[in-house]
Amino acid sequence: MSIENREFFLKILRKEINDRKIPISLGKTCPVKCSFCYEQDISYRQTFDMPLTTQEDWEFIFREIQAVPTRETESWILGGNEYMEWTDLALHPKALDWIEEFLEKTDKKITIFSVGYFDPKRINRLAEKYPGRINFELSVIALGPYRQQLMPKGPSIDQVLKVLDGPAVASANFYSLGPGTMSEDAKTISKINQNCLLWMGCLTPLKYIDEKTTTLMRRGKQFLPDESQKVYDMNLPNTQMIHTESDITAFLNRNKIIKTFDACELDKKDWVVMAGNVYRVLNMFRRGRARFLYVPNETLGGDSDCTTLLTFSDVAKRITHQKVVHLPRVIMEKSSNDERDISGVSFDDFKDRFPQVRFKVLNRVNSKLSNKKLYEKGYLKNYVEDYLRHPLSKKFERVAHPN
Ligand code: SF4
Repeated sequence: MSIENREFFLKILRKEINDRKIPISLGKTCPVKCSFCYEQDISYRQTFDMPLTTQEDWEFIFREIQAVPTRETESWILGGNEYMEWTDLALHPKALDWIEEFLEKTDKKITIFSVGYFDPKRINRLAEKYPGRINFELSVIALGPYRQQLMPKGPSIDQVLKVLDGPAVASANFYSLGPGTMSEDAKTISKINQNCLLWMGCLTPLKYIDEKTTTLMRRGKQFLPDESQKVYDMNLPNTQMIHTESDITAFLNRNKIIKTFDACELDKKDWVVMAGNVYRVLNMFRRGRARFLYVPNETLGGDSDCTTLLTFSDVAKRITHQKVVHLPRVIMEKSSNDERDISGVSFDDFKDRFPQVRFKVLNRVNSKLSNKKLYEKGYLKNYVEDYLRHPLSKKFERVAHPN
């Protein structure tokens, strides 16, 4: 969608700012073209074509940000806009100047997502000058032979390692893609930087990811247990997390899921919406206590299997004769202001499509709870000790989704 006039353009910027985003734009789609990029196909959500951010635009953005009172717990996001396409904003020629201005003239914190194009010396200098204000999440992805396949236009390994060598990077994410991938990268990164959090796992193929990349991602998942065990045995000093697989997260948090389900006090005839990860848990531990309306993640497709990422369109496809349907709050929490799913569809519009159905929202099943649990049980140690070595995890993996 194009921007018709300045007023509309400013309105989009304000909406982003309201969600605590720093809405800088490269004025085009992301030039890095990573083959694994979940933003390659943005047809599932509405975005607006924004022009390259000019100095004048920045002055407007910055004034608006400055007018927002600082909250200790809040961090402003650079690289995760809601209404604009995701791009690597480190590629904006003025990005570091504006980050510096933000740090100098406000007391706010900033969270930066990037594959690492920043000038290593300058970003590390800024982190030294403003300790505790920059949370830089570096997407390393892979340092080994698959890097070329996944990010042919990504920064060089040498550049990434230089960025890592200093206080700027708070976390580095990279993935299992087969034997000797994630474990080798963990060793390399830890040698350079013992303070950054190692965020590992595997990549989940979605429906628009090409075949070659999908095969590589699935191979990564197959070797995740071996690779994780290797990293576990290395006993690295870095904090090590692994949380990209929704099934694993659901299993590790099964007690909380069961407790929350029980607290909802559903009747065994009630229909309750869930994706595959929660279905597996409830099918194992609460079968027959309600009617599970299993909803596949069709919007994202591929191997996605996560209740948090369901859309109203996914739910709509599964409604047949139900009169009352219970919906987890988590699927309508895209933004803080109104009830919308990840694709931007509002709960009201969805309800209008089904005048014969009464929808009840399970408020206890919210994103605050799911995020908290994701982090709490998201350590590599949890995965190895409480998942891989747990006798029930194999049985859990065998629970088939219904048709
Ligand atoms: S740099 Fe980020 S936004 Fe750009 S293609 Fe790669 S993953 Fe996607």
